[in-house]
Amino acid sequence: MLYWDYAAAAPPYEEVVRTVEQIMRLHYANPSSLHRAGMEAAQLVQRAREVCASALDVRPSEIRFTSGATESNNLAIKGAALQYQGRGRHIVTTQLEHPSVYDSCLQLQRLGWEVSFVPPDAKGVVDPEQVAAAVRKDTVLVSIMHVNNEIGSVQPVAEIGRRIKTANRRTLFHIDGVQGYGKLETQLEQWQVDLYSLSPHKIRGPRGVGLLVVKDGLHLSPLLTGGAQESELRAGTENVPGIVAAAKAVRMSGEQRQEFAARVIPLRDRLLAFLRGIPEFTVNSSEDGAPHIVNFAYPGMKGEVMARKLEELGMAVGTRSACSSRLAEPSRILMSLGLGKEAALGGIRISFGDSHTMEDVAKLEEALLAAKSALKTAEGGV
Ligand code: PMP
Repeated sequence: MLYWDYAAAAPPYEEVVRTVEQIMRLHYANPSSLHRAGMEAAQLVQRAREVCASALDVRPSEIRFTSGATESNNLAIKGAALQYQGRGRHIVTTQLEHPSVYDSCLQLQRLGWEVSFVPPDAKGVVDPEQVAAAVRKDTVLVSIMHVNNEIGSVQPVAEIGRRIKTANRRTLFHIDGVQGYGKLETQLEQWQVDLYSLSPHKIRGPRGVGLLVVKDGLHLSPLLTGGAQESELRAGTENVPGIVAAAKAVRMSGEQRQEFAARVIPLRDRLLAFLRGIPEFTVNSSEDGAPHIVNFAYPGMKGEVMARKLEELGMAVGTRSACSSRLAEPSRILMSLGLGKEAALGGIRISFGDSHTMEDVAKLEEALLAAKSALKTAEGGV
């Protein structure tokens, strides 16, 4: 089986697996305990914080560990909203966001907040001018993803940061960096970012741990209370093995970013050219996108049906965000590009990792042709 779903979960680095095992065995003490073993565990967490801070070019005091980017996104949005509602009750985001951002905004909307959802263009990119135009005096937060997880489109975050701070310097800027980190350059200072979410399991780290960068001076209202961990922002005993291993993955994937891109871009470009040559397919990604994601649709054929056929042929592919891939509805992201319902039900996501080769892509292309022919003659249309 060839695995093409790195954007959903990437296989961990060998070092990550070894670290988790070693820390679980040796450093099981609670970092809040006052004995020596507890203090050693606390030191490990602190060291991991320093490693992450150095990789992201921020201060160690600005790193918070969570249970994953879903929690980081929830915390960034609802934590800022609760803390700063005295400034206003308006949020700006996009139609492209991951459910952990989108649904957090919908939840606030139900509680009386106003949310502006900026639409993307046909390539899945939002216009910074349109984002800035949506910012008002009472806008507490702008939340925008760096790279879209379904189609790989890259948002112009530097320009967005500049423009929103010009429109209202008190408006906070949150980036969901989950699909961008380790793939594209990350410059939080230059982008004028206040809050930044990251998910280690997308960069060959462990599951069940996440990061949120919270710029010094900023306060968020905690969502989990009942302990003083993570500077009283996130109560709960720290996941020490996960945190230490996450720091390894953040460092390693940051260091290997350029190497990764040089390796996968030719694979992506070859697959894009191949898909464009098949009239039955609609290609939803482009060469301007992130190096690791290619999305296409087979209008009239449900994504799940195509994915199942490809699995029979030895290819594990994604359909959309794993968090919504079991929903029978058309993809909100593909609809926001202006695609019809049929095409938006037929999305397939191929995401690359550093183990892939040109020969693997050739096998995938063969399987895609075989799946297309098999499905054309069989049932399974939308
Ligand atoms: N944001 C984006 C863009 C994602 O792709 C994902 C993972 N599907 C998340 C947030 C959520 O991350 P986690 O799995 O760590 O909760």
